[in-house]
Amino acid sequence: MDGTKLAQRIIENSAATAAELRRRTGVTPCLAAVLVGEDPSSVTYVRMKRRRCEAAGVESRLVQLPAGTTTAELVATIRGLSLDPSVHGILLQHPAGPHIDERAAFETIAPEKDVDGVTMRSFAAMGFGLPGFASCTPGGIMRLLDEYGVELTGKHAVVVGRSAILGRPAGMMLLARDATVTYCHRYTPASELSSHLRRADVLIAAVGKPRFITGEDIKPGAVVVDAGYSAGNIGDVDFETVKDRASLITPVPGGVGPMTIATLIEQTVDAAAQQLGVDLKVLSA
Ligand code: NAP
Repeated sequence: MDGTKLAQRIIENSAATAAELRRRTGVTPCLAAVLVGEDPSSVTYVRMKRRRCEAAGVESRLVQLPAGTTTAELVATIRGLSLDPSVHGILLQHPAGPHIDERAAFETIAPEKDVDGVTMRSFAAMGFGLPGFASCTPGGIMRLLDEYGVELTGKHAVVVGRSAILGRPAGMMLLARDATVTYCHRYTPASELSSHLRRADVLIAAVGKPRFITGEDIKPGAVVVDAGYSAGNIGDVDFETVKDRASLITPVPGGVGPMTIATLIEQTVDAAAQQLGVDLKVLSA
């Protein structure tokens, strides 16, 4: 499944919508990215997201805070962005640091600006299958599955990993689409992992362990989504042994990664349109 191509199409559509929004209202959609400290991966992720935003005609405002920022200071910063009418979307790059109460910081994001889908309200909407902003990586995964016509109703989906930004919402979205969902995590006995994996019609790998899942555990014809990313462009799935058993598989890089950013940009433009009171259907007509 080619995430690069689909992401490009989504970003082109978002760029056209952003341009039309600007033409009608004089306002450019704006995403504020909040970065605490200088964790190299976070710095790279934020840089990449900002570049793509700017290429799509979305203003990207970087709010860089020192590593020693307290939860109270971070909350105050995010509260300011939530109240700022020139900011339409807010992204707090995870991890903000071990001393930070991330949940408190996330919950300060105004729900209408939660374009990264991290607040409890967005989570509840995802859980119930109601409209709202999706967590970007699982949202991107669902788009990719839909693009390739993957049937989910009644299928057995196995999600390996249950983080708040990835595994857990991915399973919630699959459940909302009537799949039977199994979660595997750190406490799933290693001796039982294979039997869970082998029953997967749709497998979502979201562990963060290089080549953790190999071909022998793949049900022939399964759809395999590799959301993992480790240094050196290595996913959670051993592509070489899995590709011949799977009917569809995402590569690393070029699968899930580009879809995450495309979803973020699309949701920022949608948020701006909603906040400006412009109907998206009118914009794309
Ligand atoms: P995370 O917060 O570290 O979560 C990893 C999950 O894997 C946890 O739920 C953990 O279980 C589970 N796990 C660990 N060891 C396991 C084992 N032996 N068997 C089964 N499950 C196990 O990581 P994350 O933020 O979700 O990210 C996961 C991967 O996705 C990383 O490689 C990350 O780089 C990548 N990622 C990619 C994108 C993208 O855009 N492509 C975006 C986000 C993340 P417990 O909950 O029990 O600890």
